[in-house]
Amino acid sequence: MKLAERVKRIQPSATLAITAKANALRAAGRDIIGFGAGEPDFDTPENIKEAAIQAIKDGFTKYTPVGGIDELKDAIIDKLQNENNLSYSRSQIVASCGAKHTLYNLAQAIFEQGDEVIIPSPYWVSYPDIVLLADGTPVILQTDEADGFKVKQENLRRAITGRTKAIIINSPSNPTGSAYTLSELEALADVIVDAGILVISDDIYDNILYDGLTFYNICNVREELQEQTIVVNGVSKTYAMTGWRIGYAAGPEEIISAVTKIQSQNTSNPTSISQKASIEALRGDQRSVKSMIKEYKERRDYIVDSLNKINGLSCLRPQGAFYVFPNVSRVYGSTYGGKTITSSVELAAYLLDAANVAVVPGEAFGNDGYVRLSYATSMENIRRGMERITAAIGDLKR
Ligand SMILES: *Cc1c(COP(=O)(O)O)cnc(C)c1O
Repeated sequence: MKLAERVKRIQPSATLAITAKANALRAAGRDIIGFGAGEPDFDTPENIKEAAIQAIKDGFTKYTPVGGIDELKDAIIDKLQNENNLSYSRSQIVASCGAKHTLYNLAQAIFEQGDEVIIPSPYWVSYPDIVLLADGTPVILQTDEADGFKVKQENLRRAITGRTKAIIINSPSNPTGSAYTLSELEALADVIVDAGILVISDDIYDNILYDGLTFYNICNVREELQEQTIVVNGVSKTYAMTGWRIGYAAGPEEIISAVTKIQSQNTSNPTSISQKASIEALRGDQRSVKSMIKEYKERRDYIVDSLNKINGLSCLRPQGAFYVFPNVSRVYGSTYGGKTITSSVELAAYLLDAANVAVVPGEAFGNDGYVRLSYATSMENIRRGMERITAAIGDLKR
């Protein structure tokens, strides 16, 4: 059977793969602690579930307009205005089946052969593949841990060519948790305005920020950038709604209507019931969000402190999201049972075999000297997992 060439261009999602492997080992009776999952461990708040149940009872179970109902678009518009200080009208909003779907349809709408898309690394696993599936060329722009994994102005300027179509900005970031400050975004905005390239701003973690920090979108620094920026967001992470599949984009009308046109020929509307639930998420009581963030922060502090106590590992304290991205490169060259660990994949395999702990190799995010741990898991799991990792790293022969 000859499959289409595009299938060979891409990889299955590494984070979903590690979660599947951990689940398989667990099913086989192994006591695995998973730090792989890229989703909140909290249950969806009760008021949101109730809104969905009500939608079902009301018979709100049919097709809706492709890009979502007006009531949802209005809730998104108000969210973007009140939380992000960005103004949009209904024709500039499209709701999709999760932010990943939004990004996919957006890439299909704007990229073609020859288009370069700048993806700062470490990056969310799906960006390069989404660009490749749209016939674009991912241009990976490495950032340094010393710069907090953030793009520097001169490095961005150097990465832009006559073929550059867009840059993807993800702040707070998956996998590093780094978030841009206003002045860091200003430095990038200067280059982006000069170059006239598009910005895809993946703001899915905009609410998950710690230490009193404020979220900024690049359009907050230069208002005219709204004409070349597509903001992507969704309810999955903030409201613990990953399974509900609602994401959205806000941007120039021409682009949004192209995204909607593409969506009309793949999924049609996102689930009607989930749309009603998302309206409640965006408009309803936000206290559950605050309490989830408070808990994430305690976990962040514990996990960062624990990792930094392990000889050979070091970890920045992330500003947001629910991941840590420790540098593990100093244990490379160590051995166990005659085998030498030389990469993030080998280290992750060792931790799974020897310590029953699942982490995601940094290679999947473009940086082989690191691994990603999600702390969207209970404090109890984090404590036990850290003990196991500490012991396993201590067992390596240096
Ligand atoms: C989780 C995630 C998404 C996708 O979320 P959906 O569940 O598809 O809405 C997009 N970008 C980043 C960086 C993510 O971590």
